[in-house]
Amino acid sequence: MTKEKGNLMDLEAEVIYNGLCCYCGSCGAFCKEYITYENELPKTKKKCYEICGACYDFCPRTFFAPFEVDRAVFGDVRTDNLLGYYQGEILTARATDEAVRDKAQDGGVVSALLALLLEHGEIDAAVVSKTGENWEPEPFVATKREDILAAAGSKYTQCPSVLGVGDAFEAGYKNIALVGLPCHIQGMRKVQLSKGFDVGADRVKLLIGLLCTETFDMAMLTKKLEELGTSIEEVEKFNIKKGSFIVQTKTGKEIKTPIRKMRECVREACDYCYDFAAEFADVSVGSIGSEDGWSTVILRSEAGKDLVKRAEAAGIIEAKKLTEEQIAEVRNLASFKKRENLKHIYEKTEPISILNMLVEPEMLERFLSGE
Ligand SMILES: Cc1cc2nc3c(=O)[nH]c(=O)nc-3n(C[C@H](O)[C@H](O)[C@H](O)COP(=O)(O)OP(=O)(O)OC[C@H]3O[C@@H](n4cnc5c(N)ncnc54)[C@H](O)[C@@H]3O)c2cc1C
Ligand code: SF4
Ligand code: SF4
Ligand code: SF4
Repeated sequence: MTKEKGNLMDLEAEVIYNGLCCYCGSCGAFCKEYITYENELPKTKKKCYEICGACYDFCPRTFFAPFEVDRAVFGDVRTDNLLGYYQGEILTARATDEAVRDKAQDGGVVSALLALLLEHGEIDAAVVSKTGENWEPEPFVATKREDILAAAGSKYTQCPSVLGVGDAFEAGYKNIALVGLPCHIQGMRKVQLSKGFDVGADRVKLLIGLLCTETFDMAMLTKKLEELGTSIEEVEKFNIKKGSFIVQTKTGKEIKTPIRKMRECVREACDYCYDFAAEFADVSVGSIGSEDGWSTVILRSEAGKDLVKRAEAAGIIEAKKLTEEQIAEVRNLASFKKRENLKHIYEKTEPISILNMLVEPEMLERFLSGE
């Protein structure tokens, strides 16, 4: 049976010191007295003897029940195991405002949607990820269109974004949107759906997820950039396109390297991640499948679908259907990530005890189906 209760010491043993921590910030967002973060990992500020265990309960890497979350969030379960639950057509879209697109990573859909929500007073804050010269991303509570644009663009190192939700609560905001990678979205859903702990998470009204295959360890990325003949301070924009990791420098140089050569920089926790498409977000946005300057958009909840449709009707974004071939690209990448990471999960998992029998995880399917 899955263990569903634990305290900070259990979290340390099972997740943090076990290579599973994805540095999402869910554990410390609502317990700043005991938990801080250092070197991309949670760190205890002082010994916690409490048995409350909210940190353990909120962590996406302790236990996570995908079908239960599907039912609770979408009122239905997925028929698509690669992309998760979604409604209607998968879209390709972009912001109509060129100023948004100029700042954005792809089509600027995420920034355009957040700006619309703020400008219409539907949210009073959006938790985004901001970075300075050193590219170390930090959660940022945006309350104006300018804030949203200043935080646009992808940071390929991890940001403990859920911490920003804690900051927004402390600042008194009541209607909040969160932008996050699949692991942030999973953490935030656990906070929202927790049966044991109520931090007032109903103030988080909308989760926008980013498609994700991996993030890089900051120290390793910094070293890699030096090997590539540049430095972190020189970088204007990072991108991953068609199998290449692309660095645009402030002096206008473009450095390309095959993404497989970045493998050594990938955070270990990403090796055990089986969610590519931010399957539990209200709306998910990525680049795969879309032309340059456009974003792929997957509508999941009613709130997410309604927002995108309203943005389109108001002329804030333009959207069209992704073709079957483009959808196949999205599905292939999701399938690739899940297959590769399932191997890593198998390698990490101890043999499973079924009554008195010990079965290797990768043999489980064959064992059960009797092949
Ligand atoms: C680490 C990472 C890996 C990705 N991998 C893929 C992939 O494999 N395939 C794919 O199709 N798409 C991937 N994406 C998504 C893609 O890069 C774009 O973010 C997406 O297409 C949205 O583009 P946009 O122009 O609409 O976003 P924008 O309008 O530029 O807005 C992006 C928003 O994301 C926030 N953000 C940026 N970086 C982070 C971060 N590290 N953590 C939390 N929030 C962040 C920004 O603050 C901003 O609010 C990845 C994104 C990231 C950050
Ligand atoms: S007080 Fe609760 S949430 Fe905070 S560290 Fe201790 S067990 Fe975790
Ligand atoms: S909640 Fe997030 S940051 Fe905290 S231990 Fe779990 S994965 Fe790591
Ligand atoms: S691969 Fe998974 S764990 Fe790693 S950053 Fe992306 S969503 Fe988080």
